[in-house]
Amino acid sequence: MALLAILLAVAALAFFALLARDVTVMTRLVRALQTQPDGIPRDTALFVPGMRALGQEAIRLIQAERISRGRLVASAGEDRALVERLPDPLLKLDASGNLVWRNESALAAFGNETAALLRHPAFRNALAQAGRTAAPVRAQITMSVPVARDLDATVIPVGGPIYVLVADRTHERALERMRADFVANSSHELRTPLASLIGFIETLRGPAADDAPAQQRFLGIMAEQAARMQRLIDDLLSLSRIEISEHLPPEELLGITPLLERIVAGLEPVLAAHETRIEAALPPDLPMVPGDADQLTQLFTNLLDNAIKYGRRGGRIRLVAARGGTDARFEANGVLVSVADDGVGIAREHLPRLTERFYRVDKGRSRAVGGTGLGLAIVKHVVNRHRGRLLIDSVEGKGTTFTVWLPARG
Ligand code: ADP
Repeated sequence: MALLAILLAVAALAFFALLARDVTVMTRLVRALQTQPDGIPRDTALFVPGMRALGQEAIRLIQAERISRGRLVASAGEDRALVERLPDPLLKLDASGNLVWRNESALAAFGNETAALLRHPAFRNALAQAGRTAAPVRAQITMSVPVARDLDATVIPVGGPIYVLVADRTHERALERMRADFVANSSHELRTPLASLIGFIETLRGPAADDAPAQQRFLGIMAEQAARMQRLIDDLLSLSRIEISEHLPPEELLGITPLLERIVAGLEPVLAAHETRIEAALPPDLPMVPGDADQLTQLFTNLLDNAIKYGRRGGRIRLVAARGGTDARFEANGVLVSVADDGVGIAREHLPRLTERFYRVDKGRSRAVGGTGLGLAIVKHVVNRHRGRLLIDSVEGKGTTFTVWLPARG
């Protein structure tokens, strides 16, 4: 009996000793799992049956948690990389509207101007409204310094921080304005001769009905106005036709010299009327250029026509074609054509705007010589379609030189 009691006591002692060891191992295991994020302690052997199951379950749970934490970290990293590389500027503000973070595009687009954007009244309004409604709010922001900019900012509150996605609409808005201006200008240009025609028709039917000499005079003016409308419509149509084809460079190869010779021959009557001479230097051996013969004819006719219109009466126009390399400002692999007159010249401040539609230095003079204000806009678009370049040099009182460079093939 006593022996049994002793045996039981020894067994109990051994069991408690094992249990105490297992508890220590378990404690170490749990602590290690908390403090070593990636490792598992070497000694995980548990001997007490219940404890062994418990330990294995603990290891399984902790490993599952580690895997899902790893996934979360990876996905947060991906989200961050995406937001960083987003092509549109993105800003993160705290609940009071202070900048906390911004992505690379925002840094590149605004740099030091971010503060000006965040202070803008339209932006402050959108921020306040988004705060009240907890819904995204869009604001149109026009900034004037350091450069004019049209921005669309969307303020997105996400409960706490606020995100702001900004889109730069400067280019689109400028195009919209240009299109609207163009329609307004075209209508205005057409309305003037039309009003004059209507006025003369009324006069011819009323007060001048029996006045034959007045009728002849008025009909002459009416013919001029009708011709002006026709020129305008022709130029508008040419311009839109060229614009439609502008993205496709021409493929057909042509020689510039014969093309220019044909144009000069066609201008003989106008030259005679203006007592103007063309001195041409047109070498026969220039490289061929890929070109649209009709459009290039229009381009050089417009330049020569302007040189006659704005040149000196009794003056001289120099028309020179040469290889690209003869003027250091242009690439060698091409052909240069320059048209130089000895007329009034153009003041420097007008030069950058000269190829805009309806831009005229002297409105009265342009009208008097039958100008539409579209000639140089057509020139610019034809040059663009041919992937060429146009340079204008002018000295007031001395004359103007327009130089066109056209790329040769290969
Ligand atoms: P326009 O039909 O009025 O001539 P263009 O587009 O051909 O229109 O030219 C725009 C303006 O540029 C003209 O109104 C004129 O003021 C100026 N210009 C063009 N060519 C010359 C030139 N060779 N000499 C002086 N001014 C010129």
